[in-house]
Amino acid sequence: MQPSSITSCKRESLIVVSLSGGKDSTAVALLARQQHAAPDCRFVFADTGNEHEITLDYVHRYLPTIVGPIATVRADFSYEIEAKRQYARSIWPTEGVPEVFVERALSVLRPTGVPFLDLCLWKGRFPSRKAQFCTQHLKRIPLDQYLLDRMLEGYEVESWRGIRREESLNRRNAVERERVAEGFDIVQPIVTWSAQQVVDFVLAHGVALNPLYRQGMHRVGCLPCINCQKDELLEIAKRFPEHIDKIREWEHLVSMAAKRGWTTFFADSFLPGETIEQIAERMCIDARVRWAKTAHGGRQSDFLRESAPAACSSVYGLCD
Ligand code: SF4
Repeated sequence: MQPSSITSCKRESLIVVSLSGGKDSTAVALLARQQHAAPDCRFVFADTGNEHEITLDYVHRYLPTIVGPIATVRADFSYEIEAKRQYARSIWPTEGVPEVFVERALSVLRPTGVPFLDLCLWKGRFPSRKAQFCTQHLKRIPLDQYLLDRMLEGYEVESWRGIRREESLNRRNAVERERVAEGFDIVQPIVTWSAQQVVDFVLAHGVALNPLYRQGMHRVGCLPCINCQKDELLEIAKRFPEHIDKIREWEHLVSMAAKRGWTTFFADSFLPGETIEQIAERMCIDARVRWAKTAHGGRQSDFLRESAPAACSSVYGLCD
């Protein structure tokens, strides 16, 4: 963010809460609402295009009844996809990419308006734990642009975020408040809270959590997330098979835009002697779902894992 062009005269303060539809950002929204009146406080949601409809309903219909209006930002990759089209048409043939791969890529390199898919079409691959460009392009950049626009309107901005130290090693040193630039602070008021504290706080205020938490989801961002665990993938396959269908379709489209001709939603890994077809077959979404139904390191099918989902599979003890 480059706030250098922003006026230096005395400015009003504005709290901006980034919402995801998850428990942590909901708790932060409630804290912000407790401490700040409506004109001083805004809420914004970055729509990745890969959320479950339940999350979209929670953010667009339920939460506004609790905290007030919520703005939505969506990344747009039209420019990048057009640039890739031109690159694929003019440069790929000079790099030895087979004509059939060039033609396949050109047939799918059009913006769909779904940010997650368009990002992957542009990159010719899916993000991975090691190359997690989805967070940056689908959330951080659109949210930063929203914050910068508010600063350009003349506000001093506090960006409130639902980050907690215990979430991951990367976040273990997260601080409660950080001044990033003149007129711009990051505030993380639940940085020392546990997951259960967050759940208890939200429920104690009479606010419902995203219903996906009762359906076995640990997190409620993208569904599925590229980092989702075996048990979570199994719950998704059982409860929301249409989202597995979505990923299968995306694997097909993004593979067509890939220079090497294939890619998979979950990161590929190479075993000695495997052909490209064998890797793709082993890592594709249907193979990962088959693996999620197994026990004992994937060597044994498990009847219990394949059975219908329980009515409530909450990891936060939300069952009545
Ligand atoms: S929820 Fe997962 S897939 Fe979605 S942007 Fe975040 S890391 Fe990427």
